[in-house]
Amino acid sequence: MGFLDFPFAAGPDGDPRTFPGHAEVLRYLREFARRFDLHGLVRLETEVVRVSRDADANSSWRVRYSRKLAGSEKREEEEEVFDAVVVCNGHYYQPHVADILGMDAWPGKQLHSNTYRVPEPFRGQVVVVIGCSVSGMDISRDIAGVAKEVHVASRSAPAATCERLPGHHTNLWFHSMVDRAEEDGTVVFQDGSRIKADVILHCTGYKYSFPFLGDDATISVDDNRVGPLYKHVFPPQVAPQLSFIGLPLKVIPFTLFELQSNWVAGVLSGRIQLPSKEDMMRDVMAFYSSLDACGRPRRYTHVLGDLEFEYENWLAGQCRRECIEDWRREMFAVSMQDNVDHHGNHRDMWDRGDRDHLLVQANREFTHYFPAALQP
Ligand SMILES: Cc1cc2nc3c(=O)[nH]c(=O)nc-3n(C[C@H](O)[C@H](O)[C@H](O)COP(=O)(O)OP(=O)(O)OC[C@H]3O[C@@H](n4cnc5c(N)ncnc54)[C@H](O)[C@@H]3O)c2cc1C
Repeated sequence: MGFLDFPFAAGPDGDPRTFPGHAEVLRYLREFARRFDLHGLVRLETEVVRVSRDADANSSWRVRYSRKLAGSEKREEEEEVFDAVVVCNGHYYQPHVADILGMDAWPGKQLHSNTYRVPEPFRGQVVVVIGCSVSGMDISRDIAGVAKEVHVASRSAPAATCERLPGHHTNLWFHSMVDRAEEDGTVVFQDGSRIKADVILHCTGYKYSFPFLGDDATISVDDNRVGPLYKHVFPPQVAPQLSFIGLPLKVIPFTLFELQSNWVAGVLSGRIQLPSKEDMMRDVMAFYSSLDACGRPRRYTHVLGDLEFEYENWLAGQCRRECIEDWRREMFAVSMQDNVDHHGNHRDMWDRGDRDHLLVQANREFTHYFPAALQP
């Protein structure tokens, strides 16, 4: 999951597992910031509250921000004018919650996965987890170790689904979607089963949100489609002075966002040319039509999935970089397959000999960046 030109390899005291814990990810990001001397470029405790086009200067942006005053809890607002704005505000903080009949009157506790930290508060409880993507599957397995029962509801499961999930836990159940919630605490699934639950945990993802962007940014969010955006990055009408990094979903984020950043940097510095506004808009419309033609819902506009590497190689081509190495693609494919085959218990199973050639290729690649003494 590392950046292309800064290998993710555990240091001498690091976590050497193929799927290291979050402490190792934090160490990697800190190392990255130190190596490229980024700290001086970041204004901490500073929240952007408004980004608008500067009426006095044609293509500049007025950025209003609120910053915490040193040694005090007070904040003050300031404004500065910039030539360009690159929006990288992340999309894992504004919860999306499924609309379920009777939920308002349901008496139990409701949470969204963005507040989940540890399983202990769920000890002995009956928990309904709505959503079975990465958060839903990870959290349900985590909770199953202490909870009385965990019931995962999936909107993509056939309506009659009600089965025990394979794996270590005998208290983990998989259902079709929740049909309704009742005032006595019962949750009714589309498969007809009824569970008296203590907690409903919404693992239903997040919404894109740009509360600081005014109407003049010509960008809107409609059913989780941020648009219009050329190749998920540039709004044609105001490109390249406004751009978005990090919107694609179901991708390997660091690699992809690095390539998007390279592209934006190349365009802003004049090394890379964008097509005309008209051509970019035509490309966006053609993309939307292709989604419509295959019946893909609007909310999946930024879900790349199988198209990830094609998109990354397109970005790499724009930046005159080499295509994504085969070992990265292969590593991703075998990890995904392992996840399916071993029901999420795959993380500590890499050490099987048949994948060693991928690690050898990765480490050979890393020697371009790390002195031999730092090799894992
Ligand atoms: C539960 C979970 C597990 C994940 N696991 C993995 C994994 O195993 N591997 C992996 O590669 N990825 C994983 N991801 C995805 C990864 O965390 C994201 O892709 C990555 O953090 C995106 O980076 P980002 O910089 O775009 O956004 P973020 O990391 O969300 O950073 C956005 C930053 O912008 C700041 N911000 C927002 N609004 C404003 C504002 N108005 N003014 C100033 N600052 C603002 C926020 O405070 C934040 O610091 C996971 C995500 C989640 C939620």
